[in-house]
Amino acid sequence: KFISFEGTEGVGKTTAINSLCQRLTDAGIDYVRTREPGGSPFAEQLRELLLDTKTDINDDTEMLLMFAARSDHLAKVILPALEAGKWVVCDRFVDSTVAYQGYGRGLGDAAMLNKIEGLINQFVPRLPDLTLWLDLPVEEGMQRAGKRSAADRFEQQKMAFFERVYQGFSQQHQAHPQRIHRIDAKGEVEDVAARIWQAVSPQL
Ligand code: C5P
Ligand code: MG
Repeated sequence: KFISFEGTEGVGKTTAINSLCQRLTDAGIDYVRTREPGGSPFAEQLRELLLDTKTDINDDTEMLLMFAARSDHLAKVILPALEAGKWVVCDRFVDSTVAYQGYGRGLGDAAMLNKIEGLINQFVPRLPDLTLWLDLPVEEGMQRAGKRSAADRFEQQKMAFFERVYQGFSQQHQAHPQRIHRIDAKGEVEDVAARIWQAVSPQL
């Protein structure tokens, strides 16, 4: 099985993935934990460039680099793991590109969304079996994330950017209700973990 996690800044993806992975270990499931952008050596190099505040690129370049990173990540890590019968748990995947590059950068313009959809069709041979969208109001996530260290190139963006990203996730959830499950990310860590396990356990 291929599971991805999505959400805006500070929704608690890392904590949620930690607890899912612990439960998978307890259930005796062999899995690979990975992330985007990154996940393979070359894609991690691209990640460094993409997150570097000194990087100056246009929106198309950013979007294409996300797909370049994803293509290498799929070929080197995700597809081999799935073929070997392992689960893959991925921190962000295609929905982040729709949300960040399509809605955040591209303002949800049809032209940008069409480009992204075309690239997904051509370069993403495998979508997740299940995507967990951790849904938290942008403001609350910012407060949680604000406690963390130096902002990367995306985290530096203004509030309006993240509001659009949120709309992107919400739109993707509506467009793909079978694949994308909305998880209420409010409340205690344990409660969120339980909601996630409820969504994942039918896949066992
Ligand atoms: O999830 P994490 O915070 O590690 O993601 C790294 C950064 O890359 C985030 O700031 C996220 O917003 C950004 N990102 C992006 N487009 C993607 C994937 C991640 O802008 N497709
Ligand atoms: Mg971040």
